[in-house]
Amino acid sequence: MKMKLNCEEISELLSASLDRRLSLAEKLSLRLHWAMCKFCREYKRQMLMIHQALSHWKKTAPQSEDLQLSLKAKQSIKDILQNQVSEG
Ligand SMILES: [Zn+2]
Repeated sequence: MKMKLNCEEISELLSASLDRRLSLAEKLSLRLHWAMCKFCREYKRQMLMIHQALSHWKKTAPQSEDLQLSLKAKQSIKDILQNQVSEG
């Protein structure tokens, strides 16, 4: 695992962190990048905000539909954020 990641790799790592636990090296790479990159700090803030809203919503959503709905919702969050990235 290389330590210096670009913004795209950081955003991928951030969305991966919503699905799995990151390794120490991955967490360090994120922190290192966030220390230098204002854009990715803002991206993280938005991502976590949406993720928190989603987890709150998941708690209140019916259990049987939970998985499918959350996968769809996650995908649309990624789409929204990727559109923001390309608009720059
Ligand atoms: Zn960045």
